[in-house]
Amino acid sequence: MPKGEISIDERFCKGCSLCSHFCTRGCITIPGDRFTPQGYLLPVFSSPEKCNACGICGWLCPHFAIEVYKLTEKEPAAK
Ligand code: SF4
Ligand code: SF4
Repeated sequence: MPKGEISIDERFCKGCSLCSHFCTRGCITIPGDRFTPQGYLLPVFSSPEKCNACGICGWLCPHFAIEVYKLTEKEPAAK
């Protein structure tokens, strides 16, 4: 199963919580304990070990605040 990582750009996030509601794996929680520069509650990528890089949070974010990365295993060095 692929592993994922996300980054949330706090300059664009408006704290709407769509990402948290629609992550089927419960990786993102709101409220966090930090605010964006504009005063919205910033979501937290609280369970990164569950993320499978499905991309749903990135597609749904209406403010294009989320980037999703698929983590790949490093190939073993050739002998
Ligand atoms: S969907 Fe986007 S704007 Fe809404 S809380 Fe998540 S990151 Fe912020
Ligand atoms: S990429 Fe998928 S599993 Fe990972 S945080 Fe976003 S919605 Fe959840």
